[in-house]
Amino acid sequence: MSILEWVYWGAIIAEMAIRAPISRKQRKEAKSERRVTTQEKVLLGLLFLAMFFVPLFYSVTNWLDFANYSLPVWAGWIGAALMICAIFIFWRAHADLGLNWSPSLEIRKEHQLITNGIFNYIRHPMYASQWVWVIAQPLLLQNWIAGWLNLLIFIFFYFLRVKAEEQLMLEQFGEQYRSYMQKVGGVIPKF
Ligand code: SAH
Repeated sequence: MSILEWVYWGAIIAEMAIRAPISRKQRKEAKSERRVTTQEKVLLGLLFLAMFFVPLFYSVTNWLDFANYSLPVWAGWIGAALMICAIFIFWRAHADLGLNWSPSLEIRKEHQLITNGIFNYIRHPMYASQWVWVIAQPLLLQNWIAGWLNLLIFIFFYFLRVKAEEQLMLEQFGEQYRSYMQKVGGVIPKF
């Protein structure tokens, strides 16, 4: 495995370590609302495939070698730097959202609208971190399939998810969320 692939797998482990404790605790929380569509389940499954399994095949087998490309060294290092940014944003998002996080669209009984910490700058830090990730991935995994599939699937996921999530937040928090949306940008801060 190349050093850039090690960076990728290091980032996967970092995200798992950040998410695991919150994931374990939030499963036990009582929920007042749960919206999971088949479309969302399929997209989440495909994202997992593109983020984990396809890169795994790329790293441990030679089945995808026919689709390899080679970038200059500096491009790989930009990929590594972006990956560090992605992990940092991912960590802050989890630290600030805490048990209000959920893998699919859910509202827990004790749900709180978070607008502080990194949520003071952007409304969707986790998705912002995922955008940075899918841009870093083709720089680290230099393969037309293992590098790019995640970006392709994430574009679909992002637009569908954000629309449904903001709808849910507006129903739940009304005016409070509406004014938050006016003040704070989605994945890019408003200046
Ligand atoms: N869109 C956010 C959160 C993703 S996790 C981000 O990118 O960081 C998805 C869950 O987070 C949803 O089920 C929703 O209930 C919850 N959520 C989203 N924004 C929130 C906020 N500002 N405060 C509290 N919960 C939020």
